[in-house]
Amino acid sequence: MAVPKRKVSPSRRGMRRSHEALPVAAHHECGNCGELKRPHNVCGHCGHYDGREVVAAESVKSAIRI
Ligand SMILES: [Zn+2]
Repeated sequence: MAVPKRKVSPSRRGMRRSHEALPVAAHHECGNCGELKRPHNVCGHCGHYDGREVVAAESVKSAIRI
């Protein structure tokens, strides 16, 4: 079995992990209700998209929120 020659120093470990940060999820205000929603997606609060109701508001409440 291959074994690492040296212990990774805290500095090297930190340099490697500098690329591991999770990206911040994109969000945008809904033009209808002002709730935060994902861009280019139907609003999870009111079911509106591009100025009109696409999904009935009752069925949206059971869907996954952001
Ligand atoms: Zn909305």
